[in-house]
Amino acid sequence: SANNLQGYAPICLGLEDFYIRRLYHRIQDCFGRPIASAPDAWFDVVERYSNDNNKTLKRTNNVSRCLNLGSYNYLGFAAADEYCTPRVIETLKNYSPSTCSSRVDGGTTALHNDLEECVARFVGKPAALVFGMGYVTNSAILPVLIGKGGLIISDSLNHNSIVNGARGSGATIRVFQHNTPSHLEEVLREQIAEGQPRTHRPWKKIIVIVEGIYSMEGELCKLPEIIAICKKYKAYTYLDEAHSIGAVGKTGRGVCELLGVDTADVDIMMGTFTKSFGSCGGYIAGSKELIQYLKYTCPAHLYATSISPPAAEQIISAIKVILGEDGSSRGAQKLIRIRENSNFFRSELQKMGFEVLGDNDSPVMPIMLYNPAKIPAFSRECLKQNVAVVTVAFPATPLLLARARICISASHTKEDLIKALEVISMVGDLVGIKYFPAEPEKQ
Ligand code: PMP
Repeated sequence: SANNLQGYAPICLGLEDFYIRRLYHRIQDCFGRPIASAPDAWFDVVERYSNDNNKTLKRTNNVSRCLNLGSYNYLGFAAADEYCTPRVIETLKNYSPSTCSSRVDGGTTALHNDLEECVARFVGKPAALVFGMGYVTNSAILPVLIGKGGLIISDSLNHNSIVNGARGSGATIRVFQHNTPSHLEEVLREQIAEGQPRTHRPWKKIIVIVEGIYSMEGELCKLPEIIAICKKYKAYTYLDEAHSIGAVGKTGRGVCELLGVDTADVDIMMGTFTKSFGSCGGYIAGSKELIQYLKYTCPAHLYATSISPPAAEQIISAIKVILGEDGSSRGAQKLIRIRENSNFFRSELQKMGFEVLGDNDSPVMPIMLYNPAKIPAFSRECLKQNVAVVTVAFPATPLLLARARICISASHTKEDLIKALEVISMVGDLVGIKYFPAEPEKQ
C-alpha cells in the first residue's frame, strides 16, 4: 500500500523492492511535480532570518517579513542572545570557525571536552561524545553499535538518519507499529522467548530504537512501556531526542524528565544541538565504557573534523542559560513559555475544528490536510498573510496523510500566536480542512 512507501518506513522491504520503487517514483512524479512548480507557495530560499530569535524570516523575492512557524528553534536560542552570543564571538576570536582536524589528530580542544562533560551532566548519563552533525550521529553510530548477527527493532516512523544507520549496520531490521508497545512486544516475542538469557538467543544483540518526540507526528514516545518491554526481553534501548532534549521536561532534560523515566534505564541516548540549542551537531550519551568504545571505533569520531568551536560554545552557553547558571531565570522562563505556547496553540487549533496530531507539551503540531493537492493552496494563502508554515507530504508521510507541520517556539509572543491562529483559521476555511465542528465560544 502507499502507506508503506514512506521514505523512512520501508526498511524491511523484501522481494518486491524493485517494483515498489518503480511505483514510488511514479507516485512521486504525479504528486511531486505540480506541487514543486508552485513557487509562490514556498519559502525555499530565505534571504535572512531576523535577529528577533529567528521568529521571522525574509524570503529572497523581497516578500515582506513572515512569522516563522516552521523553525525548530524551540527555545529561541537561534539568534543573538545576551549570554550566548558574546561568548560565541569570543570563541571565534580565540579559536577559529573550524579546527580543520579530526578529534584524534589535534581537533580536540578544551572546549570539546567541556562540551562533552556538560552534555553528559545535562542529559543525566556518565559520559557523552559529540559529533559535527546530528544526522551523522545516528547514521555513523548504529553501524558501530551493531552488525551482522544483531537485530534492530525500529519504530516505523523513525527518522531517515536512523533508517540509514540501521541499513548500513548490516544487522537484521524489524519494524514495529509506530509508538505501539504491544506490537513491539509481539515482534520481540517472534524473535526470542521471554526471559531467555542473552547468551542463548539467536541474536548477538538486540537494539530497540525510538524517538523522544516524533517530528512528523508531534507525539511523545511511550517510553515507560517501551523500557519495561526492553527489560523483559533484555534488549538495549536507543532514544533519539532530537526534538525533545531542551524542549520538554521541567528543566529541559527531555522526555525522561517529562515522563518520569530514570535515564539509567535508557542504554543509549542520542540527540542533536540543531533545535533547542540553536547550534549544530549531535551527541551520544551513555556509560563510560560505551563512550570509550566509541572513541576507539567510530569512524565519524576518528576521521571527521571535530565540531566547530563557536558551535560548541553556543551549546555550552545555551545549556548554562537553561540551567540558570548564567545567573538569570531566563532559561526557566523559556521552558515555561514553550510549554504554555504549545498547549495554548494546540488547544485553540482543536477548538477551531482542525485535526491536530500529537500530545500536550509537544511543540511539534501537525495540522492534517490529508489531500496533498491542498498543500500549495494552504502554504500560499498563509504566506500571503506573512505566516510561513512548513508543509509535509509523501514521501515524508503516507500519500494521503499530507499535513502542515507547525513548530512552536518560546520566542513566539502571545500576539504572534493569536495572529497566526487567525490566519490559519481563515486559510483553513478557504482550503476546507476543518474536519471537526468548531467549539462554541464560551460566554
Ligand atoms: N534525528 C531526528 C529525529 C531528526 O528529526 C533529525 C533532523 N531534524 C535528525 C536526527 C538529524 O539532525 P540534524 O538536522 O541536526 O542533522
